[in-house]
Amino acid sequence: MRFATKAIHVGEEPRLEEEGFGDVAVPIHLSTTFARKEVDRPTAGYEYSRTGNPTRNALEKRLAALEDAKFGLAFASGLAAEATLLLSLLKNGDHVVASDDLYGGTRRLFVSTLKNFGLEFTFVEAGDPDNVRRGIKSNTRLIWLETPSNPLMKLCDIREIAEIAKEKDAVTVVDNTFMTPYFQRPLKQGADIVVHSSTKYLNGHSDVVGGAIMLSDGGAHEKVRFNQNAIGCVPSPFDCYLVLRGIKTLPIRMERHSYNANKIANYLESHPKVKMVNYPGLTAHPKHALAKKQMSGFGGMLSFELADSSEAIKAFLSRLNIFAVAESLGGVESLIEQPALMTHASIPERERKAIGISDSLVRISAGIEDIEDLIADLEQALEGG
Ligand SMILES: *Cc1c(COP(=O)(O)O)cnc(C)c1O
Repeated sequence: MRFATKAIHVGEEPRLEEEGFGDVAVPIHLSTTFARKEVDRPTAGYEYSRTGNPTRNALEKRLAALEDAKFGLAFASGLAAEATLLLSLLKNGDHVVASDDLYGGTRRLFVSTLKNFGLEFTFVEAGDPDNVRRGIKSNTRLIWLETPSNPLMKLCDIREIAEIAKEKDAVTVVDNTFMTPYFQRPLKQGADIVVHSSTKYLNGHSDVVGGAIMLSDGGAHEKVRFNQNAIGCVPSPFDCYLVLRGIKTLPIRMERHSYNANKIANYLESHPKVKMVNYPGLTAHPKHALAKKQMSGFGGMLSFELADSSEAIKAFLSRLNIFAVAESLGGVESLIEQPALMTHASIPERERKAIGISDSLVRISAGIEDIEDLIADLEQALEGG
């Protein structure tokens, strides 16, 4: 089965026999507990909904299929997935090498929460694989990558870094939220585990907070599955249903997100008020060649720097009518934000500057509206000042 077919059918096959009614959309199983006929035999394997739920199970099968992984696990948020993963695979004294411009919340989880449990983190500019190699220590167990990165759209070479990790017996994890499996398959490139904030493109409609982990190693899966239940940050059946529903249109949404982002990036690149544009689809992007090799599309995210003062940027944002000034990304509606004041405000200013997130950086999540309307909105907002 190919991607668009799996996105619609896997996990949601109609049940025509036994007790099934032939539903083509999976029922939302709200029951928290499941009755059994024999005391030692849970009905269809279900006992209690934190441990397992039929609607969540349908979503988990779909998630696995999308990344061509053996196993998929659904969580209450992307950060819940990340925290459960690290608490499952690492122990006190272990070291992680991570790329330096991670999603702000991921960085906060690492340095503000998990550090207190004896985990050590080193952040490196992973665009050069040698920086990753140099960051590895004798206690390094895991490499954490985000590509393209947020908000600077920097790329790193998954295949090359996964090879370095293997030499050192470290596990490679890729946060694939920005590209989704429609445009990028980290497991095929040698990574061991993929994580997602399904809040973003997988659900795609800005109405669910959710997370996912996909992997094929049976031992690692058992540990994460155990802790999904033991820690308990599971998604509700209703949210699972919504993500399943969202995923059905993932391929056509991603095509349009990418088309619109490309047009916007090209428009901004030629605008006199724009200093620079970060979009992997532009030939000027320093990793454009890697983007073409590693991804099958360039995605819907871009960022750019305005030549204006911060007061002028504030005015530009307030003049927009279609773009909503909001955090988050990956929904059908176009969003725009200023990372230094919003998504990345939790990173201390000095670190932010060192990474390259300037105060005049603006990030766009291109929605799937008509591109003419989006460009016209940007045009009037840029000209208005
Ligand atoms: C949003 C996001 C997360 C965190 O996910 P939540 O669902 O908000 O907990 C992690 N990584 C990336 C790249 C994200 O965009």
